[in-house]
Amino acid sequence: MRAEVIPDLCIACGLCIEICPEVFSWSEEEKAEAKAGEVPAELEEKVEEAAENCPTDAIETG
Ligand code: SF4
Repeated sequence: MRAEVIPDLCIACGLCIEICPEVFSWSEEEKAEAKAGEVPAELEEKVEEAAENCPTDAIETG
């Protein structure tokens, strides 16, 4: 699984970083960003949780 934040949709609420700081962090533009590459299997559940709870649906997984 890979995760991506769509910067134009991100309102920088910080929820995804709170839920899964191993994958999400702040970008230089002060939006959330996801680590590039494959999400480690043990973190997939947390990434899904972040995507489901993002208030603007800014996180894409696949
Ligand atoms: S949860 Fe969504 S809106 Fe909030 S910081 Fe993460 S990507 Fe941005």
